[in-house]
Amino acid sequence: MAKYVYSFGEGKAEGNGGMKEELGGKGAGLAEMTNAGLPVPPGFTISTQTCREYYKAGNRVPAEVDQQMQQALQQLQRAAGQKLGDESNPLLVSVRSGAKFSMPGMMDTILNLGLNDRTVEGLARRTTNPRFAYDSDRRLIQMFGSVVLEIPKPAFEAVFDGKKKAKKVRLDTELTAADLKAVIEDYKKVVKHHAHINFPQDSLEQLTMARDAVFRSWFNDRAQHYRRMNNISDELGTAVNVQAMVFGNLGDTSGTGVGFTRNPATGDKIFYGEFLMNAQGEDVVAGIRTPVPIAELHKLMPEVYEQLREITTRLERHYRDMQDFEFTIQDGRLYMLQTRNGKRTGRAALKVATDMVAEGLITKQEALFRVDANQLYELLFPRFDPKQLKSRAPLASGLPASPGAAVGKIVFTAEAAVAWSRAKKGPVILVRGETTPEDIHGMEVAAGILTSRGGMTSHAAVVTRGMGKCCVAGASSITVEEHATTLTAGGKRFKEGDWISIDGSTGNVYEGQVPTMEADPNDPLLLNFMSWAEPHRKLRVRANADVPRDAKAARAFGAEGIGLCRTEHMFFGEGKIEHMRAMILAPDEKQRRAALKKLLPLQRRDFAGIFEAMDGYPVTIRTLDPPLHEFLPQREEIMVDLERLQLAKGAAKRTATTAIRKKYADYAVKGAPFGEKELQRLLARVQELHELNPMLGLRGCRLGILHPEITEMQARAIFEAAVQVIKKGKKVLPEVMIPLVATPKELAMQAAIVRKVADEVIAAAKIELPYLVGTMIELPRAALVAGDIAQEAQFFSFGTNDLTQTTYGFSRDDIGKILPMYLAEGILKQDPFASLDQAGVGQLVQMATASGRKTRPDLKVGICGEHGGDPASINFFHRTGLNYVSCSPYRVLTARLAAAQAGAGGEGGRTA
Ligand code: PEP
Ligand code: MG
Repeated sequence: MAKYVYSFGEGKAEGNGGMKEELGGKGAGLAEMTNAGLPVPPGFTISTQTCREYYKAGNRVPAEVDQQMQQALQQLQRAAGQKLGDESNPLLVSVRSGAKFSMPGMMDTILNLGLNDRTVEGLARRTTNPRFAYDSDRRLIQMFGSVVLEIPKPAFEAVFDGKKKAKKVRLDTELTAADLKAVIEDYKKVVKHHAHINFPQDSLEQLTMARDAVFRSWFNDRAQHYRRMNNISDELGTAVNVQAMVFGNLGDTSGTGVGFTRNPATGDKIFYGEFLMNAQGEDVVAGIRTPVPIAELHKLMPEVYEQLREITTRLERHYRDMQDFEFTIQDGRLYMLQTRNGKRTGRAALKVATDMVAEGLITKQEALFRVDANQLYELLFPRFDPKQLKSRAPLASGLPASPGAAVGKIVFTAEAAVAWSRAKKGPVILVRGETTPEDIHGMEVAAGILTSRGGMTSHAAVVTRGMGKCCVAGASSITVEEHATTLTAGGKRFKEGDWISIDGSTGNVYEGQVPTMEADPNDPLLLNFMSWAEPHRKLRVRANADVPRDAKAARAFGAEGIGLCRTEHMFFGEGKIEHMRAMILAPDEKQRRAALKKLLPLQRRDFAGIFEAMDGYPVTIRTLDPPLHEFLPQREEIMVDLERLQLAKGAAKRTATTAIRKKYADYAVKGAPFGEKELQRLLARVQELHELNPMLGLRGCRLGILHPEITEMQARAIFEAAVQVIKKGKKVLPEVMIPLVATPKELAMQAAIVRKVADEVIAAAKIELPYLVGTMIELPRAALVAGDIAQEAQFFSFGTNDLTQTTYGFSRDDIGKILPMYLAEGILKQDPFASLDQAGVGQLVQMATASGRKTRPDLKVGICGEHGGDPASINFFHRTGLNYVSCSPYRVLTARLAAAQAGAGGEGGRTA
């Protein structure tokens, strides 16, 4: 017969600390503490398997569970010397959830179970404290009512607050036993009214109902959301812990508290925690009374304090990690209710791991797994002061697209962002429906970006991560129209210039200015820790960077080259876009070449800056990728302007013509007027370039094939820059990468242009300059024919953003619309644009790597999609035998640690 229920008490437990899988973290911890002889109230744990079977059978536990629970209850009653439902000496129990991975506060708890109309009288007599007994009973009805019977909490609160008002008292504790008795009667009416049943008087029935409610809470919205955020599988299920109650609210020698063996915010080795005398756990959590620092306990009850110190020190040594514990003191006696590895900030994780190595508690290799690679990312950004956030509710929330904290004044256009910054009117947050490449200058000067649409690989998300700038994307509850002058969030309206704060690490948006704290990237603690990690790393880590400033930042974080330089970003800068537009609008090749000639020195300057920053490290430069219409105005906008101009008469016509001339000045041939005819010509070109599916249209190598002169110009800029930098005594390793290749012939045609120009420039300079020409693998067809493509390619770099988009057929910019539903329904386990779909897209990566290397054994293989900064994906790339990953500069540290963890044999994805 399967074992579902595990007892603990009287110094021994059926389970142990190694059984987190079956007993959940809390259950395993209680068993372990019991076995270690610590003062733990007796109880039993119903396994996670029971939860899984409960769901499988359509919300019913297997028949054996009730029987095993009965036996465990007998044992618990013996250990406690009390009986459930006994009128003179009733056993009261707590019923709590506890999954394998801690999910603090996400599921439900019921306390004081076992009280009813009769046992409450027994408790009142036995404790000679009727007020305590009735208060416990009303808490039970309230918790049971809301958790098990799903009655809205305000229904109970109205009764309780009504009583306080009637009695003209402010504090809960000012209500007398008689008042609470009356509250209980009214609570029972609330239960009858909402749930259409009487509050159950049978304690065993209460227990069974509570157990099932805790199982159900595994799938409540909070818990599901938390699991998605933390990459925890829905399949695990929760255990249920039933444990004899101990009371911290029996009087002045009772109390309850929580603590950490070290400070969870800083990692300092300071016993840290807080407690309340004469209180139950929920009083601490609910914030009704302010808890007292744990050091105060030393003054009040020195012996209990010493015992707590001794026990928690032992626990930390036993688990060899910082512990987060809960305790209760009942009539001067200490009980331990929980211990687990404590959650901590990135900084604290580094400090605790480093200190524990120095203390001889863990090895350096173990220390690597004590820091979540993602947390290193958080370490580099300013963040909101957690104390300040406690008292603020978010206005809205979106995707945590690029971390950090940003505070600024709202602006709605890139132009406004620039104007406000130039005028030094304070930091700005650029708020858009979504950003486009045209917003780049505004994004550059903004402190942070907030969008109401778009996913984790939307333009705003990708660009800000590259810039190391805070971004909240897809905050769909915010309304911001095109040409907006206001935004609405949380029922309030905000206008340009209003202060707003955004948290790119959580996705939360706050009203006003939330104070921030700065981070230090050259922290000696971090450098020392990374020196332990590095020897384990096999994957190289490069950065995606488009401008010298980002390349420098990437080097500072330890990037070993550039894995992707998106050259199109260089065309958007000031002084460049007009030449780009002239090139697109040119009626013939001659004029196109003339425009490209103007772009050449500008690109060359940018490339030279990047080569210099990367002295001695390879730099992969990708030829132009985006559709050309991205450089031109919106088709609909020109249509409206044209119609307005055509309809206007007399003076109105003159005003409209002046306005058009001003607005479209960048599109005019130098010195020539811009009027209706020119606007029509612009519209015709935009119509010509218009595509229904631009992501699948004229982009990538297709552009270079249609307009070889663009590739030619870019190749010339790259190699002339390389020559310049070499002449300054630096080492340059250029790698030219052709995007969106589907056939070997496409690559061959583009590579021929690059090689011709490169060889010309190198020969003219009379220097040695080894270089590579390779391709992105970002279309399923390219992965399928990778063996043939490798005939031509000297390296592969997987563009997993496009590869995910084209393998799934999900638009990378619109995934946000279906993602919540797909995650909720379990169709997707996680956003495939954030963490690689190893089963599908991953198979293409493995296949293409293997067949590419079959053709060319020394083929260098990397990845430069967003997945290059995701620890679980990095682990996969390590196992697939890639040479390097490339990610945004601010994820380089994360990638280095994740690669080291993979090299040291970690599973990847989660460290604790
Ligand atoms: C990709 O597709 O993964 C990639 C890196 O290219 P981009 O994001 O510029 O399309
Ligand atoms: Mg791509």
